[in-house]
Amino acid sequence: MANELTTGVLIVGSGMAGVTLARELRKLDANVDITLISADGGGFYSKPNISNALAAGKSADQLMMSQRDALAAQLKIQIHSECRSESD
Ligand SMILES: Cc1cc2nc3c(=O)[nH]c(=O)nc-3n(C[C@H](O)[C@H](O)[C@H](O)COP(=O)(O)OP(=O)(O)OC[C@H]3O[C@@H](n4cnc5c(N)ncnc54)[C@H](O)[C@@H]3O)c2cc1C
Repeated sequence: MANELTTGVLIVGSGMAGVTLARELRKLDANVDITLISADGGGFYSKPNISNALAAGKSADQLMMSQRDALAAQLKIQIHSECRSESD
C-alpha cells in the first residue's frame, strides 16, 4: 500500500502532539511499529482541563482520559513512561 511505512516510528512525548501523531499514523498503517517514550506517566489528559479539574477538586487520576496501558492497547503501540530522551 502507498501509505505503508517500512520502518518503525519513535515518538517523543505523550501530550496532544505525540498522541495525535500516534493515532493518525495508526489510521494510515495498521501494522507499523510505533514506540512512544514519555518523561511523564504516559497516560493522556487534556491540559486545558487542568484548571477546571482543580476547581472541581478532581484528582490527577480523574483528569486522566486514557491510562498508559489502555492507550497502548487502543493504539497498538508500545509506551515507555518515565523515560526521557537526551541529546549532547
Ligand atoms: C492549564 C493549561 C490550559 C491550557 N489551555 C489551552 C487552551 O484553552 N487552548 C489551547 O489551544 N491550548 C491550551 N493550552 C496549551 C495546550 O495544552 C498545549 O499547547 C498542548 O498541550 C501542547 O501539547 P504538546 O503535546 O505539544 O506538549 P505537552 O502537552 O507539553 O506534552 C509534552 C510531552 O513530551 C514529554 N517530554 C518532554 N520532554 C521530554 C523528553 N526529553 N523525553 C521524553 N519525553 C519528553 C512530556 O512528558 C509530555 O508527555 C493550555 C495549557 C495549560 C497548561
